[in-house]
Amino acid sequence: MQWTTETLAGDTEGVTYSLPVLRFAGTDGSAPTAYIQAALHAGELPGTVAIDALVPKLARAHAEGRIRGALTIVPGANPVGRLQYHFGELQGRFHLGTRTNFNRDFPLLAKPDPSLAGPEAGTADQRLKQRLLSLSVGHDIVLDLHCDDEGVAYLYVPAELWPAMQDCAAAMGVAAVVTWSGSSGASFDEASLHPWLRLPAEEAGLDRKVVTTVELRGLRDVTPAYAQSDAAGLYRLLVARGVIEDRNEAAPAPFAGLVAPIDHVDVVTSPRAGAILFDVEPGDRVAKGQRVATIVHNAGRADGSIEVLAPQSGYVLTRVSRRSLYAGDDLLKLVGDAPSANAREGALED
Ligand SMILES: [Zn+2]
Repeated sequence: MQWTTETLAGDTEGVTYSLPVLRFAGTDGSAPTAYIQAALHAGELPGTVAIDALVPKLARAHAEGRIRGALTIVPGANPVGRLQYHFGELQGRFHLGTRTNFNRDFPLLAKPDPSLAGPEAGTADQRLKQRLLSLSVGHDIVLDLHCDDEGVAYLYVPAELWPAMQDCAAAMGVAAVVTWSGSSGASFDEASLHPWLRLPAEEAGLDRKVVTTVELRGLRDVTPAYAQSDAAGLYRLLVARGVIEDRNEAAPAPFAGLVAPIDHVDVVTSPRAGAILFDVEPGDRVAKGQRVATIVHNAGRADGSIEVLAPQSGYVLTRVSRRSLYAGDDLLKLVGDAPSANAREGALED
């Protein structure tokens, strides 16, 4: 068990970011290896506290000689975003200097070779992406821990790895899986899988690969109970995939949650600016035409509010955490029973 602190130069003299990295060596060079990072969107902390609860379990496994495959863990993957504290709020999703999402525009490597991620160049956010990719590439299992605004726990899984990753979804105990393929704006998960897809199938060994963006519910779901249960889920996944040995952990049952391709997700938007009165919350099922929210745009007037209806029947995956929106802003994500009429290529959000 070894902590190191990586440093990343800032964009001005006198500014240096630090990035703590925890590594465990494995006892079996042929066992799968794992990389786990959290808070790439700097304010999304459910994964960071899950790692905090996971580390003692790993330390125990290490002391007992049960860590077979090497582990690399980055509890706070975005020191650049963490510094962007403005008017009392953290702006951890986009780099302020470039307005680029911290989870887009990762380098897409031709081969799973960490040396191809450098030499580091560009602005601090671009160099951070190169650094994170070079830390992660080559691991069989790559977990990127995020959260939504308000939501159930769910995974984004590359279609190439589904249904082989059913055991991971079951181990994590998530409510839903959204599968995707093609381009996702060079998000971290896309960049993690991309080099393996360039290899011949027999060399890539996709059956032992795990790549997923893990959405650990909502921004406010940072609690002792979730930290412990999410740590237990991560641990079960690592045992199920042979990174850790633990005979007390049963193999995951078949995944019983919702599974849908990304083009089934309707991102329902607000037709007017105003205050939101939600009728539904994450985890609810809705019928086509059912009211999901009312937007109050001119309070007190008879015609001062407008109803938002479900575009199709489905499952409420997430909703925004704010209660005040502009016209056209995202209101909620609905996993429809059929493809969305508004499905678009790439990621669901900017
Ligand atoms: Zn995120």
